[in-house]
Amino acid sequence: MAELKVQHSLAALGSAFSLPCSPTPVAAPEWLAFNQPLADELVLPEQYHATALGLALFAGNELPKWCQPIAQAYAGHQFANYVPRLGDGRALLLAEIISSAGQRVDLQLKGAGPTPFSRGGDGRSPIGPVIREYLVSEAMHALGVPTTRALAAVSSGEMVYRDEPQPGAVLTRVAKSHIRIGTFQYVAALGDPALLTEFTDYVIARHYPHCASEPQPYLALLQAVIAAQAATVAHWMSLGFIHGVMNTDNMSITGETIDYGPCAFMEAFDEKTVFSAIDRRGRYAYVNQPPVALWNLTRFAETLLPLLHAKQPEAIALASAALESFSQQYQAAYLQRMTAKLGIEHAEPADTELISSVLALMQQNKVDFTLFFRQLSSNTPQKAGELFNDQTSWLNWFSGWQARVTAQKQTNEQRVTAMQRVNPELIPRNHLIQQAIEQVSEQGDLSLFNQLKQAWLAPFDVDPANAAFSRPASEQERVQRTFCGT
Ligand code: AMP
Ligand code: MG
Repeated sequence: MAELKVQHSLAALGSAFSLPCSPTPVAAPEWLAFNQPLADELVLPEQYHATALGLALFAGNELPKWCQPIAQAYAGHQFANYVPRLGDGRALLLAEIISSAGQRVDLQLKGAGPTPFSRGGDGRSPIGPVIREYLVSEAMHALGVPTTRALAAVSSGEMVYRDEPQPGAVLTRVAKSHIRIGTFQYVAALGDPALLTEFTDYVIARHYPHCASEPQPYLALLQAVIAAQAATVAHWMSLGFIHGVMNTDNMSITGETIDYGPCAFMEAFDEKTVFSAIDRRGRYAYVNQPPVALWNLTRFAETLLPLLHAKQPEAIALASAALESFSQQYQAAYLQRMTAKLGIEHAEPADTELISSVLALMQQNKVDFTLFFRQLSSNTPQKAGELFNDQTSWLNWFSGWQARVTAQKQTNEQRVTAMQRVNPELIPRNHLIQQAIEQVSEQGDLSLFNQLKQAWLAPFDVDPANAAFSRPASEQERVQRTFCGT
């Protein structure tokens, strides 16, 4: 039987990067969810599964000896405004666990009470954001997007006070690490070159070990993070995912999607779509996600300048060249994902026109992004045309598409199979998340939450039992605004 392997490498880096802090016990924890397959991957001992001991651990009430809880320090640009000290105000890193695949991951409690970084906040989380993060992060994983995971969710039996009192909950998050661009901003601002070097070497060893043997390891790190983010954001765009709060403290160094606060999947295609109630100017609108990622990566590059070259102009030249490659890498990843959605085996530059023209048509006709691509993936792709009001433009596009895909070597059957593997039948539709949250928080009814959790494990499969989850929200069901967890 495999044994739990635990490390505390970030805690060992010392007090410049994190502070010890224990969770504050909650009154009456109860299970909302436990992710058994993930627990198995982590080789978590069975005594901490869906047991009383597990409940006590994931509520933060009773930590095993192998936990060494700390709150991590970080800074960040929030909506472009620099905040020098944010940090884990409602999260605690318990331990790093080595998974059965040999991957080291963080085990973190979210909503476990105040920390030295909770300025004004209570360190708690209402049940709604916990349900949303559990559902969406696990769905993103099933969709194949790099993401933090959800291991457990427990209600606290306590109320948290926001605009109105709401039941509280604690989420257990698993991530390759919780090191963000904001962590680098924090370390760089300490103004101590030795600390910056120590921390950067730590990140290279932990996440990008191949960089250590490159001629310029720090430049290689910058390039690797740029590549990881370009790939992740292209994946988001291909699924209509809107993160909602791409502050630099919410952008992971690993390229994993992190912080599912006001996130949402777009339904009717509109590139300007914004859900987050606090994003009044649409900084984090769907279409702005690639340029914002580059903006954030530029902040990351700035923190590395002292390591890139002793002379600043040369350091800037190196960083700029790396940043300039973002756009090309993003475009290539986006083209690859979007052509795959269209059933094109080998992307060609001319395919960008086929993509942009169908997106423009979808925008004009308010067509559901997910439904369209899924219907195009059927044996009767022409039926997707029923989603469009403007039939002339649709038929024009459709004949161009047909000519493009039928000229390929693969059979129609092969194409349909390939398209159904990249165009999901199910995405976490906002109104369903909202209904699940209401049922859990108002009636303590977990049934819809459990159904969605199960259905979204297999987003590319068709199950008649889940037919209601495929359809877009009706006018009455539509959720226009989403809110941060705070
Ligand atoms: P986020 O919205 O998760 O990106 O959080 C931004 C910052 O606010 C982070 O430093 C959080 O730790 C902090 N924060 C958010 N909610 C709370 C809370 N309820 N109590 C204390 N700190 C919080
Ligand atoms: Mg955050």
